[in-house]
Amino acid sequence: MKITDIRTYLVQVGARPPAPGAAPGEGDFRGSRCWLFVKIVTDEGIEGVGEGSGWPRVIETAVQDFGHVLVGEDPANIDRLWHKMYAAAMGHGMLGTVLGGALTAIEMALWDIKGKVLGQPVWNLLGGKFRDTIPVYGHAKTPETAKKHTDLGYRGLKVSFTGAVNVDKVAAVRDAVGPDVDIMVDAHGPSWMTPGDAIVLARKLEPLDLLFLEDPIAPENLDAFQRVRDATTIPLAAGERVSTIWGIRPYIERELVDVIQPDTGRAGGITQMRKMAAMAEGHFITMAPHSGSLGPLAEFAALHVMATIPNALMLERLEIDWPGRYDVVSPVLKVVDGAIPVPDVPGLGVEIVEEEVAKYPGRRNVSDLPADDGWSYEPGTVTEAVYFQTRMRRAARLSLKATGAPK
Ligand SMILES: [Mg+2]
Repeated sequence: MKITDIRTYLVQVGARPPAPGAAPGEGDFRGSRCWLFVKIVTDEGIEGVGEGSGWPRVIETAVQDFGHVLVGEDPANIDRLWHKMYAAAMGHGMLGTVLGGALTAIEMALWDIKGKVLGQPVWNLLGGKFRDTIPVYGHAKTPETAKKHTDLGYRGLKVSFTGAVNVDKVAAVRDAVGPDVDIMVDAHGPSWMTPGDAIVLARKLEPLDLLFLEDPIAPENLDAFQRVRDATTIPLAAGERVSTIWGIRPYIERELVDVIQPDTGRAGGITQMRKMAAMAEGHFITMAPHSGSLGPLAEFAALHVMATIPNALMLERLEIDWPGRYDVVSPVLKVVDGAIPVPDVPGLGVEIVEEEVAKYPGRRNVSDLPADDGWSYEPGTVTEAVYFQTRMRRAARLSLKATGAPK
């Protein structure tokens, strides 16, 4: 069997309709993003599908550039082809998550082909199952959204801090759902949090019995992360921004976290995620893959990986973000009693619905920033939104009193 072609599909997610009278192709893309699906075609008619995340329009070009590395190759030799691509990118500086996203999309599709050729689900080729269903967690900002998810059967919820840190918000969700639902907090690694702030936050959250606190500080700052780690008992999580075993290695080897969070679309592929899980297992660290910017295709790959590893914790899931999520691939995964059943058909068990994908052509995928305002740092301004931020209004940003926390 030989690879004959690699096709890419960009999906613009959540774009608003164009204004009346707009030129063809124009639209309102504020707040929207892209997903990238990939299909590998073979000379025997078997096709495999994958998804790459990170910077999808850039990754699409990277995937297309790998065409001459892959066409004519036998798709069975997954690891050899991965290393061939990795070496081909060496002259370009390895490219971090962009390369990670391209390798992931292609490698995922190669596993899909292997499963279809052998008539086996991917989990069975990875060593067989530990479990038949994978527990998932959703996102909740308020007791009301928490209730919406628990009504759907969710047993895990994540509270996100964006722009401000508020312990009472977490306490309110805990009060609403009780002790039988796992709660996580994502601080999104704000650069304006000092290690001291992060330590206070972590200690204030300790009585709420979280499953983990994610990125309490900018995760690029590993020595500061270590300070937070040493000063709190709360379980910590990180890893969504890195790719490959070499990216996740310091978090595991320094035991900075209790949970690693590789993104299934840019970790480097199914084999890389398995290797990350094995490295983590050696340190009694669990894995809860990140899915915050992923489409529905990579979720299938995450289920196969998590079915086969002993240290699978929970899978992140965006249940309610864009209705098209449930149209662009088939079948649709459903949460049953807080978990998703692992697919039991050859390959990954998912196909791209090309006629639906064609309705949402990719246009852009960089986050929108507010208009520049002359470096005022006022709320909603571009200077408030840049990555490294000069912090002002500390009292407004940090609400660490936890007045609603259990005694
Ligand atoms: Mg996160």
